[in-house]
Amino acid sequence: MNILITGGAGFVGANLCNTLISDNHNIFILDNFHSGRKENLLHLEDKRNFNFIEHDIRNPIKINEKIDQIYHLACPASPKFYQSNPIYTTETCVLGSLNVLNFALRQNAKVLFTSTSEVYGDPEVHPQPESYKGSVNPTGIRACYDEGKRCAESLFYDFHRMHGLDIKVARLFNTYGPLMRSDDGRVVSNFICQSISKTPITIYGDGTQTRSFCYIDDLVIGLKKLMNSNSNILYPVNLGNPDEFSLLELVHEIEKISNKELTIEFQPLPMDDPKMRKPDIKKAQNDLGWKPSIKLSDGLINTYDYFLNELKK
Ligand code: NAD
Ligand code: UDP
Repeated sequence: MNILITGGAGFVGANLCNTLISDNHNIFILDNFHSGRKENLLHLEDKRNFNFIEHDIRNPIKINEKIDQIYHLACPASPKFYQSNPIYTTETCVLGSLNVLNFALRQNAKVLFTSTSEVYGDPEVHPQPESYKGSVNPTGIRACYDEGKRCAESLFYDFHRMHGLDIKVARLFNTYGPLMRSDDGRVVSNFICQSISKTPITIYGDGTQTRSFCYIDDLVIGLKKLMNSNSNILYPVNLGNPDEFSLLELVHEIEKISNKELTIEFQPLPMDDPKMRKPDIKKAQNDLGWKPSIKLSDGLINTYDYFLNELKK
């Protein structure tokens, strides 16, 4: 198949690309390197089935080859990146998704959107099932991303209802692993890099807030399963690991791997930072036959080794 990945130079996109290339598909990556990296794709440049297009999805997309499937990932995902230029983030979510959808329609391609647990905002329901409509502050510093993704989801469903476009919507929960940037700013990469470089671990708030961390290899399997699922799976599907950890517990896990006692520096909690997050994955389990299999302690070991090499470069 000819498969397009928007945002393929980023963390999730580059991992997905590696798997789809080894499955022998022809891969087209479209990216503008806003938060992605050329280094994530260097090893693929001489592959016969790899094509790269430098493009900003806020502009209309033109590719002459017939595309069968599109994984639409392009969007900065780390608060540090998406808050650095919030208007850009909203434009990428809304105009970008509109351009991807119009392209999919012209190509008659199936298109999967990577939405986010952020559509649930700072949730009052725990764990979060797909039916929960969320608690998002539309005027806060996270709104460019949260509301951008919510609007993009609505565009996906409108293209399906109005034009019969074949769509899939995945709601990703915090994912980590190799190919993240060391300056990405998200919690797992920050804590691991701080531990390697022997600088204090920066906890925002008191560290009792929780997240549920999914290792990238599990997520990639889930994305492929959803993309290739039956056409009656039209509803959004949570993809994440339901094992929930406080940030203090995460520090403890990293302490075990690094074999060091880590110093913590408590910093102010950013506005609207969700207090807890844990996916209800019954739909993914029952309808896709997917559930994560990699424990946090194992995923962190691989990620730690990856960053040890990265920080030597
Ligand atoms: P990332 O920032 O590493 O990758 C995003 C990629 O999109 C980058 O390569 C970036 O350069 C590209 N991009 C950004 N704006 C673009 C534009 N206007 N035109 C073209 N390319 C553009 O993020 P990630 O962690 O790989 O996330 C991938 C997707 O998954 C995002 O849509 C994100 O919202 C979603 N998601 C990720 C997580 C997670 O924990 N990783 C959680 C929830 C949702
Ligand atoms: N966080 C932290 N220290 C850091 C980076 C993040 O304490 O160096 C916190 C952040 O405030 C949030 C949690 O870790 O409570 C997860 O943050 P991340 O940016 O990874 O993703 P989010 O789930 O908030 O989008």
